[in-house]
Amino acid sequence: MDYDLTDAGYYGEFGGAYIPEILYANVEALRESYLKITGDPAFKAELDALLRDYAGRPSPLYFAGRLSERYATRIYLKREDLNHTGSHKISNALGQILLARRMGKTRIIAETGAGQHGVATATVCALMGMPCVVYMGETDIARQRLNVQRMEMLGAEVRPVTCGSKTLKDATNEAIRDWCCNPSDTHYIIGSTVGPHPYPDMVARFQSVISEEVKRQLAERIGRDYPDYLVACVGGGSNAAGTFYHYLSDGRVNLIGAEAAGLGVDTDQTAATIHLGKQGIIHGCRTLVMQTDDGQITEPYSISAGLDYPGVGPLHASLAASGRAEYFAITDGEALAAAAELTRLEGIIPALESAHALAVLRKKNFRPTDVIVITVSGRGDKDMETFGKSKVESRI
Ligand SMILES: *Cc1c(COP(=O)(O)O)cnc(C)c1O
Repeated sequence: MDYDLTDAGYYGEFGGAYIPEILYANVEALRESYLKITGDPAFKAELDALLRDYAGRPSPLYFAGRLSERYATRIYLKREDLNHTGSHKISNALGQILLARRMGKTRIIAETGAGQHGVATATVCALMGMPCVVYMGETDIARQRLNVQRMEMLGAEVRPVTCGSKTLKDATNEAIRDWCCNPSDTHYIIGSTVGPHPYPDMVARFQSVISEEVKRQLAERIGRDYPDYLVACVGGGSNAAGTFYHYLSDGRVNLIGAEAAGLGVDTDQTAATIHLGKQGIIHGCRTLVMQTDDGQITEPYSISAGLDYPGVGPLHASLAASGRAEYFAITDGEALAAAAELTRLEGIIPALESAHALAVLRKKNFRPTDVIVITVSGRGDKDMETFGKSKVESRI
């Protein structure tokens, strides 16, 4: 099948490892050891205990009664917003820091957009007593103040990035630059299913705990361990990859991703990579990239800092190309409306990123008997300022 991963890290034609010479030994060491280390029963036991006692897993699977009534179908929410630090990012950060320790690394770096991955990384670094540098674009620093304060309180150094659009893409460039200068002692904890192989696969595996839990929880609740639809938002694609993971080859399950259309796919203010991207290389990976005709990477835009990335994980590029998964482009306005709706119907304020997944409910007709699992990737506290500015209350 198209999404089978080759040894060189390709999902179909997407993936691989396009890296500067100086990082070759690092990435190669990671590639050679990640499956061995993560497959070790002692590693698994340590990670499982942390996921349970520290992160609060399993995250609940909640039947959203009033939302289901409104859309005349059966909707379950996978509550990643209830994890420690407020999103799915903590599962990957815990996995990678345990891996880094076993590889003898003593310093951690990370990039962050909305700040959730930065917070998760700063958190696990505090937990393990390791120094942590987080690269973050100045634009994101301004719109995600709360997360910057959290990272600093946790002891991380937040380095502002002032080039390009001063968002996630630029922060990632700076993190890679740092890694090139410190290849021997530093592990780079990438926050999504992007970057050179083995990162997309490694991060998907750490997030696959989501679909592992969904299977068990659905079996208990409805007597069958699969839904008709899985829905998740896609930035780099890690919460979606984790949501889909154990169902990838189960044809009974329809997979839906929601990417950020920004002001619309027919404008230049957008981050809808799957709809608008062409094949290219970004941050060490061959995938769909939003670019000009002569191959310059386009500055992405979304109201949601966690989704404005001009690339997408190679797994999703492949799932889109093969038609295995369907991707919707959700505008800022549609996401804001979906966030308001969930808040008023269920008393759950979702992250703006997650609201893109919820907006799929208005884009597609579901049958009354369908079981839909939507991953709420994070909570909305960090987005309160944005919600306030857009008068989200009036949109219900
Ligand atoms: C980071 C983030 C995302 C986007 O990242 P993916 O790798 O696509 O999951 C989505 N939702 C929240 C809450 C996030 O913090």
